[in-house]
Amino acid sequence: ARQTAMVKETIRVYARVKPLGRRQQAGSYSVDDEEDPLSSLEITVPRDLADGFINNKRETYKFKFQKIFDQEAKQDVVFDSIAKPVAECALAGYNGTIFAYGQTGSGKTFTITGGAERYSDRGIIPRTLSYIFDQLQKDSSKVYTTHVSYLEIYNECGYDLLDPRHEASRLEDLPKVTIMEDSDQNIHLKNLSLQQATNEEEALNLLFLGDTNRMIAETPMNQASSRSHCIFTIHISSKEPGSATIRRSKLHLVDLAGSERVAKTGVGGHLLTEAKYINLSLHYLEQVIIALAEKNRSHIPYRNSMMTSVLRDSLGGNCMTAMIATLTIDKRNIDESISTCRFAQRVALIKNEAVLNEEIDPRLMIVQLKKEIQDLKDELELVTGKQRTSELSQEELLQLDELIETFLKDNDPDSSLDVGADMRKIKYCFIHMKELVNHPTTSDKKLLSQDISEAEDPNKKSGEEELEKLKHLLQQRDNEINILVNMLKKEKKKAQDALFQLNATSACSTVLEQSLSINLEDRQSPSSSFSLKEAKDFSSSVHRLPFLSRQTGGKTSLGYQEAFEVFKQDHADSITIEDNKQLLKQRFAEVKCLGEKLNEVRGKINCLKGKITQRHIQRAALAVSSPSEELNTFDPVEEKLRMQIEEEKKSYKTMFSRFKGLKVEIEHLQLLMEKVKMKMQKDFEVWWSEEAKNLQEMPEMVTSPDTVTVYPQFIKSLQHLSAKSFSETTRVSPNEDPHGKNNSITFSNPTLKTRTPPSSSTSIPLTGDSQADADILAFIKARQRILQKKG
Ligand code: ADP
Ligand code: MG
Repeated sequence: ARQTAMVKETIRVYARVKPLGRRQQAGSYSVDDEEDPLSSLEITVPRDLADGFINNKRETYKFKFQKIFDQEAKQDVVFDSIAKPVAECALAGYNGTIFAYGQTGSGKTFTITGGAERYSDRGIIPRTLSYIFDQLQKDSSKVYTTHVSYLEIYNECGYDLLDPRHEASRLEDLPKVTIMEDSDQNIHLKNLSLQQATNEEEALNLLFLGDTNRMIAETPMNQASSRSHCIFTIHISSKEPGSATIRRSKLHLVDLAGSERVAKTGVGGHLLTEAKYINLSLHYLEQVIIALAEKNRSHIPYRNSMMTSVLRDSLGGNCMTAMIATLTIDKRNIDESISTCRFAQRVALIKNEAVLNEEIDPRLMIVQLKKEIQDLKDELELVTGKQRTSELSQEELLQLDELIETFLKDNDPDSSLDVGADMRKIKYCFIHMKELVNHPTTSDKKLLSQDISEAEDPNKKSGEEELEKLKHLLQQRDNEINILVNMLKKEKKKAQDALFQLNATSACSTVLEQSLSINLEDRQSPSSSFSLKEAKDFSSSVHRLPFLSRQTGGKTSLGYQEAFEVFKQDHADSITIEDNKQLLKQRFAEVKCLGEKLNEVRGKINCLKGKITQRHIQRAALAVSSPSEELNTFDPVEEKLRMQIEEEKKSYKTMFSRFKGLKVEIEHLQLLMEKVKMKMQKDFEVWWSEEAKNLQEMPEMVTSPDTVTVYPQFIKSLQHLSAKSFSETTRVSPNEDPHGKNNSITFSNPTLKTRTPPSSSTSIPLTGDSQADADILAFIKARQRILQKKG
């Protein structure tokens, strides 16, 4: 997941004026730092008479910069204002770039790398390295990895300055770096080595290795240093321990080739071609910058040169970028300085969007997934019944007790009791819970007695009583539903036992499973946090469910049950039941939520009251220490607390009336559902007894379709049955069935065969239990008749 924390910012442009040499004559310029927020640099050019101007008119240029560092500005100041903020961003996971632009000899290398003589002259690269490693050491919350790379671009060729294998005597000896673009248009540098640097010293050594390589490779003839671009990059990746998310950032520190124009280089032959290249490269940089500064420009010609490709993100992309325009202010170079400033003004228009570079590390992801697999294996072990047999240690038992207690106390509906995939632990938890339910101990009481005495507030007292009552009621509902589920489970068990006996396959179980899954949904409705209490109420609530107690008297057979489940599913009223069930679920959730909120408000009120008491004590103490103070004076703090209590009470009341309203609604809904269920059962019984009567009257197995009373909705479900479930049973023909041979009858009807070919021949293995067999036969016959009728 990539986070989209984004910093939109224009490139920050700074100017640095190089100190004049002894023999140099200063041009006319002035720096104005007072203007806010930008500083301005004014350069005045005396008009030369030779230019054809008779008057002494002077031309003045004014440029704006983020900040201007005049001749006496020291390296540390330059670092603090320009590089430190960018380094901080890099540490936070954003890309950063600082580049120096200016004519040869204007101080680019001095600014970026530093002077060779004094320690205080060290430039942005060593200072940044020092700063970054300092910060990394301080931050123990993350794991950092740092690498550096050093690339030189000369004549559109890239060279790896950090290749340790080479004792390079010429630039051409260094490994050539080439550009690769992936399908996402990301630039990759092939052959550029990333050297790990675990501390400042290692990083500095690498920097010096690169600079040495650069120096050695440079001959007086090619003067590579002024015609090549150098990009020193610090790669930082960080992650929090245990997390698979990695932040990566790159900090480019760039020393560009001299910006002077070809005319000035003024050399012929071989060198001129080189000069052209340099300028081409910078020319493309300029083009990119012009394109970026233009609004609505969609195509940016990054690809034209290697340097613009490498710096693509730094220019109008995902980067925090700063530019330093290095200026030589002596008379001879003033023109160049003006063009450097002009360039800087355009760069200042470019907007970058630095994005936090976060990604998921696949290796770490694998570690996490492996853990997940282990968890799943544990779970599988649990399900398949493979168990650990040794006893739990005393320590483990104590741990479990603690877990259970926190679980019981946790009001969060999503809280769960997780003891891992250990059957012994799970069993122990159940036993412990049972104990708690059967013999509510003091710890159990604590759970329910969080309320602090509220005797002085009768209104609230009654509210609490109501709350308790409602909890109790919810508890009962919870219990009822549990009973329901248990009964259904028993029914299913019975049915399954019968099924095993019958050796029948999917036909019946499918139907049963469907009905069971519907009924199991009942379970989810009540609040779990109110459960566990008063399990003894189970028996008292059973009689409230006439529908079920009547049905599960023990005399239901598989056929009957199955038929009813199917009947129920397609009965028009089942929609009403479903709707009500959903509504009930919602209401239960609301009630639970409200209950929690009410508790919360009560807690707040108690807290406020505690504060008032504290206030009283404080004031009493004050009265003792300085009796002159009057105790009965009005206390604004207390008054404010009282007002807050009143506010909370108000909201308590509103919530409580809603709470009561919901209670009424829930009871109503439950009654409605019971009524509908009863009606449905009655309908079914009428249908069933009529069927039974019809069957008894018919001497033949296949009866006339005219005599059957069928509910239209039942036809539908039986069709469904015959098409799906029964056809599956019939796939096994009687002749191929080795087990069912002795114990089955073949039900075949030639007239039916033509009408319903897929299920005309049905082989049903019998149980031997006469009641069950009779039911099955009745069911089959009913089905046949319905099919005939339909045909
Ligand atoms: P560039 O890299 O732009 O060609 P350099 O950084 O090599 O220029 O500077 C040329 C000379 O000027 C070097 O000897 C350098 O030490 C000196 N120099 C540049 N800027 C400063 C400065 N701010 N203070 C002192 N010396 C400087
Ligand atoms: Mg240089």
